[in-house]
Amino acid sequence: MNPFLDLITQRLQTARDEDRFRHLRAVKPCPGGRCEINGNMCVDFSSNDYLGLAEHPALIRASQHWSERLGAGSRGSRLVTGTVEETLFLEARIALWKGTEGALILGSGYNANVGLLRAFAEKGALFIGDKLNHASLNLGCQSVGVEFKRYKHNDLNHLESILKNATSTPLKLIVSDTVFSMDGDIADVPALRALAEKYNAMLYLDDAHASGLFNVHGKGLGGSHAPYEIVMGTCSKAFGSYGAYVGCSATLRDFFINSCSSFIYTTALPPAVHGAIHAALDIFQFDEGAQRRERVFQHAQTLCQNLKTLGFDTGDTVTPIVPVMMGENATAVAFSQKLLDAGFLGVAIRSPTVPLHKARLRLSVSAAHSANDITALIEFFKIVEPPVLS
Ligand code: PLP
Repeated sequence: MNPFLDLITQRLQTARDEDRFRHLRAVKPCPGGRCEINGNMCVDFSSNDYLGLAEHPALIRASQHWSERLGAGSRGSRLVTGTVEETLFLEARIALWKGTEGALILGSGYNANVGLLRAFAEKGALFIGDKLNHASLNLGCQSVGVEFKRYKHNDLNHLESILKNATSTPLKLIVSDTVFSMDGDIADVPALRALAEKYNAMLYLDDAHASGLFNVHGKGLGGSHAPYEIVMGTCSKAFGSYGAYVGCSATLRDFFINSCSSFIYTTALPPAVHGAIHAALDIFQFDEGAQRRERVFQHAQTLCQNLKTLGFDTGDTVTPIVPVMMGENATAVAFSQKLLDAGFLGVAIRSPTVPLHKARLRLSVSAAHSANDITALIEFFKIVEPPVLS
């Protein structure tokens, strides 16, 4: 047998033995925060469609309309084939919404993080990231020539001690999620800004799970006119669509156009996606957006308070992401199956996505859910025992 294929077979077997083998399951998305699995209707508590916009008629209509006008595909990289005026307008709109001087649209959050961070790679540079940052941020920080250090989760004293010891390193970049995707807790963005300023570092914020949810018009937690701040966000979560953006100064925008490989060497997003992003921004700024934000946060609070009362550990979440700590991988997998049998989709998140022995159900609520959906989920947790956590 080919040695690589041997190794692959071994790795898959180890994943099975450690209850972390992943497989794809067929689902049919349905209205009202639901999906059909094997012919059974479930309430979907696994998606990042926090505002329920993925099924919104305005987004669907806008996608159709943009496709009809501009085509099904974008035909090439923006630097080669050109940028349609509509995209430039959309970027100006995103900059205004985020409160940044400029903005650039990129292919996906994952690609954006890897490419944007790698654009800063320089021999002798130091990147410093929160221990619980998203995998794509870590990948972007592992750039050739760069030293990458990680500070304890949300421990700004630890971050400052690293910065203090690096006064002889001129090129420093602090990297943090604003909302942590597997825990639902948030970073102290004003304190991160203060540290960046004090130690003359750049600050890179990932607003993926805050965009559309926090602040005026859902502008998120990051984004300012500070020349050292870069904020990226995805259009795949509360936006209900796909793609990513980065908000920054005009100089940094020029820099990314010239240096970000995941912007330069890839085809622009299709017009349909731009249309959906445009329509989602409308909703964020209408009363409807505010009402949807209020509903999803109300659901999250109700679910969290009840789970805590029932003895489940939901960590420090303050967002629609509600982790329910399970400890071991096998416990999380068994719990997730029980949940599915009861008609709720809530997936088990295992290592390496979260640290070993910190497996959990990652539940996420949506404005598409009704109050009855939340009540029904709470009823499920009333009849199961919380796991014993070590
Ligand atoms: N950043 C964070 C914090 C995320 O949670 C995710 C999504 O999983 C991403 C980036 C990647 O975004 P996308 O799904 O658009 O590639």
